Amino acid sequence: MAKETMEGYCPYCGQMQMVEATTEKEANSKAAENCNCDGSKKARSARQCADNIEEICGAGANNFNMEVCDAEVIEALKALGNLVVFDDIESAVIRLADSTVAIKQTKDGVAVARKKALSVKLEA
Ligand SMILES: [Zn+2]
Repeated sequence: MAKETMEGYCPYCGQMQMVEATTEKEANSKAAENCNCDGSKKARSARQCADNIEEICGAGANNFNMEVCDAEVIEALKALGNLVVFDDIESAVIRLADSTVAIKQTKDGVAVARKKALSVKLEA
């Protein structure tokens, strides 16, 4: 299907924009992508947050010298990320076996940080 110029409506604020798309759904998601309303900004933050969680806890974790988390843990972190973006949770901190993951509201969105716990104890 060829792309054509059509009306897209931001699903968060209803603002109309002319966009290049093949379906109404694509037009609306492009309108949301271009929109600057609060809802669309939050949706972009939530998506970015999920990508960041995937990056530092999923398959990308090895790049940071961290263990890859279980899929359930990653899903739970993403759910928490959504709560931080859309609700009144300012920050969420989860302790894993080898590290701590913190999801925090920032001025422009949400930040994800993972810290490895390293400690040494010698006893005699
Ligand atoms: Zn909008």
